[in-house]
Amino acid sequence: MDPIIIIGSGLAGYNTAKELRKLDTTTPLTLISADSGPFYSKPMLSNALASKKEPAAIALNTPEQMANQLNATVRTKTRVDAIDTAARTLRIGEETLRYSKLVLALGADQIRLPVEGNAAGDILTVNDLDDYAMFRAAIAGKKRVAIIGAGLIGCEFANDLAATGYAVDIIDIAGQALGRLLPPEGGALLQSKLAALGVQWQLGTSVAAVDHADSGYTVKLANGTTLQADVVLSAVGLKPRTALAAAAGIKVNRGIAVNRRLETSAAEVYALGDCAEIEGLVMPYVMPIMHATRALAQTLAGKPMAVSFPAMPVMVKTPACPTIVSPPAAGAEGQWQVEASGEGVKSLFVGADGKLLGFALNGSATAERAKLAPQLPPVLA
Ligand SMILES: Cc1cc2nc3c(=O)[nH]c(=O)nc-3n(C[C@H](O)[C@H](O)[C@H](O)COP(=O)(O)OP(=O)(O)OC[C@H]3O[C@@H](n4cnc5c(N)ncnc54)[C@H](O)[C@@H]3O)c2cc1C
Repeated sequence: MDPIIIIGSGLAGYNTAKELRKLDTTTPLTLISADSGPFYSKPMLSNALASKKEPAAIALNTPEQMANQLNATVRTKTRVDAIDTAARTLRIGEETLRYSKLVLALGADQIRLPVEGNAAGDILTVNDLDDYAMFRAAIAGKKRVAIIGAGLIGCEFANDLAATGYAVDIIDIAGQALGRLLPPEGGALLQSKLAALGVQWQLGTSVAAVDHADSGYTVKLANGTTLQADVVLSAVGLKPRTALAAAAGIKVNRGIAVNRRLETSAAEVYALGDCAEIEGLVMPYVMPIMHATRALAQTLAGKPMAVSFPAMPVMVKTPACPTIVSPPAAGAEGQWQVEASGEGVKSLFVGADGKLLGFALNGSATAERAKLAPQLPPVLA
């Protein structure tokens, strides 16, 4: 019998395998990963310094342990080069593997902005544990980190680094932190709390060039400001990995297009996680992945199941200013109602009928999460 093959050993890949094994312990199962394949929780990467975790301690299980636990073959440092959906095969170099069902759990690439300068190639990104180990090696014994991007990941790293003694500059073309998730009042509170930790905000501008300096780098901003940094980290957003699927003729939009059964346009090929676009939604967060893995496992085990997503608020790991966001659906009609009081900002996105469609809670307002979350509409009922 040809195995079920899962490409990817991130939260989507391993958790699909775990859920499947709760339903089916015997169907041959293979996981293939381009990276070194540890099982770990990616969100831990952006608060590991403050929680005093070395990269090696973030890995919860080795690939060998996962293979034993899952009664599966786990191949690491192995990149799938092509898929033939008609023949139901994969190509890895010269090798061809047959699959019965194929799961694409390929993740997303960090977007890289065009930056000039003789050290532009030294700009780091962190999107897996291997990257994070390199980042930790780069900052060891250093003092100054410049972060490009004041989104969720950039702000989390800024908090983690500043809380552990690093001097942090954070640069964003937007005029505020978390511009896609928070109204200006919420952004302002987050900025002031991180500034109190020492974070320097460089907003409304971009990085023009990164050049080698006597020690570290000179970072030139488009507004003419020049900064010095020992390490430059870019966190400007993610782009679903769609190339492998697109080359196989599988339908791709912003992500690999799937329906609520996580089925792609090719028979017996499924996708989930950061690479997928589920009914038009790209949701690069843990909770959607967990819901999707449970539904997909049922389908793989022969009981086709559609996934439903409740509202899934995301906690931004900025302890200097606790923040929880549940953005309204794209195109939702309504307006923000903002109440700022001392140490908190409560921002509610309310429709014309008075229904709560989304929220952003900062500081003391996060205490209202439990009351507000049940009032939110489901993402996909
Ligand atoms: C620093 C950071 C902090 C985060 N914090 C939070 C948080 O607090 N809360 C939250 O909800 N979300 C958070 N996220 C997002 C969340 O971690 C991701 O949505 C999730 O981990 C994605 O899992 P995945 O399995 O889809 O992708 P990935 O973990 O990226 O896994 C993709 C896998 O596919 C493999 N692969 C890709 N192409 C190939 C190929 N051709 N052949 C073989 N293998 C291939 C890769 O090697 C990898 O194993 C954070 C993300 C980051 C980067």
